[in-house]
Amino acid sequence: MTEAPGDTPGDNEATLETIVSLAKRRGFVFPSAEIYGGFAASYDYGPLGVEMRRQIRDLWWRAMVRERDDVVGIEASIITNPQVWQASGHLDTFHDPMVDCLNCQARLRADQIENNTCPECGAVGQFTDEREFNLMLKTNVGPVADDSSVAYLRPETAQGMFINFENVQTTTRKRLPFGIAQIGKSFRNEITTKQFIFRTREFEQMEMEFFCYPEDSLEWHTYWKKERLRWYYRLGIHPSRLRLRDHTEEELSHYSKATADIEVHYRWGWGELEGIAHRGDFDLSAHATASGKTLSYFDPDRNEHIVPHVIEPAVGVDRIMLTLLFDAYAEETLENGEQRTVLRLAPEVAPAEVAVLPLSRNEKLAPTARRVNDIVGPRFRSQYDDAQSIGRRYRRQDEIGTPLAVTVDFDTIDDDAVTIRDRDTMEQIRVPIAELPDALNRRLEELRPPIPSHDEIDV
Ligand code: ATP
Repeated sequence: MTEAPGDTPGDNEATLETIVSLAKRRGFVFPSAEIYGGFAASYDYGPLGVEMRRQIRDLWWRAMVRERDDVVGIEASIITNPQVWQASGHLDTFHDPMVDCLNCQARLRADQIENNTCPECGAVGQFTDEREFNLMLKTNVGPVADDSSVAYLRPETAQGMFINFENVQTTTRKRLPFGIAQIGKSFRNEITTKQFIFRTREFEQMEMEFFCYPEDSLEWHTYWKKERLRWYYRLGIHPSRLRLRDHTEEELSHYSKATADIEVHYRWGWGELEGIAHRGDFDLSAHATASGKTLSYFDPDRNEHIVPHVIEPAVGVDRIMLTLLFDAYAEETLENGEQRTVLRLAPEVAPAEVAVLPLSRNEKLAPTARRVNDIVGPRFRSQYDDAQSIGRRYRRQDEIGTPLAVTVDFDTIDDDAVTIRDRDTMEQIRVPIAELPDALNRRLEELRPPIPSHDEIDV
């Protein structure tokens, strides 16, 4: 287990309210259906939020699929044959034990009640008996809403990989070990949903099922723990905010040999960011039994059929985004006494890498500013902004995490050079327009977080 060092973040960092307010004010996340008073635990992502989410997904897809030759992708349907959920165990066992508070009627997860006290109203010991509450969201498909048309919105993307194991293996001719990855929406009728986008009823998962020889599975589990931690370092998350926690014997599912969570230190304590589960051969065997089909791998070297074991790294895009916002948020007092808020996001996860800012809306500047924007726009994820004073625009870009700003001023008209301002140091350098793409690329490269090798990570 990697313990967080003494300077654990969390004591003097932003409150959840601060993050929620910034997210709304700048257009990262809006409450869903706000004009109708909102809808519990549902959020809509605004212009900056979608840019960030696209980057998170792309970086995951690159690291998990494109940069490797042993993982391929699929996109399975959200609503599928309910027999899938019967075989996977979700219909019978995907429950949370719930109680109702007799005093305030709040419905609560029994395992989250401390000291027999209702967290909503403080009443002590006034609960109904525990009841099991299935977390799957139900719907009906087709014209008749009866028992025969019941279907479910998937509560995880993973089953799509298991039920397509045979299709993918035979079409790609992949040999063990290999993985199948998917990014897509999942749905759970969550009961406790207090921490903004940490836990929502509709969320986006990024999951990968890595199929391997049973005898190699524990080694692969260790490999994926390291690989996934490295990915979070690549996103620029402060290492002291992350830790790996191995599940205890009691926490493990009956079929799991090992499971670890990558946890994040939030202001309210450590919470799961990603699960890295060893699922054994549970899923393939369960679907083989239920469907009557063979779901195994024919090993040409050993001349035998094997049911592979599976290692599954699984995470939610929304939770990563919340983690990044907390981790990057800082309030600073500058030398001149001014206050600024800055999101120190790594360039790859910032909504924009570069802002193009003409000093003013003066029409003499406009053609040059547009020309600069035409150079920057196709090469970098960028924003053009000429509204308000330049000082306020710098503050805005700091607050949304744009690492570099290019300023076009009146000297530009004469010297064909622009200023690059650095978000973190606020230093400015002057570069000829002809050299701008190279200069921006160089600086963005310097800002990339260092990624340790597997040997340097102790799990
Ligand atoms: P938790 O205990 O936090 O509810 P879990 O153990 O049920 O999570 P998994 O089933 O392992 O979660 O799902 C894998 C990942 O999907 C989680 O680590 C998390 O990042 C994400 N995730 C799961 N449920 C939600 C949710 N309701 N909202 C947002 N993200 C979620």
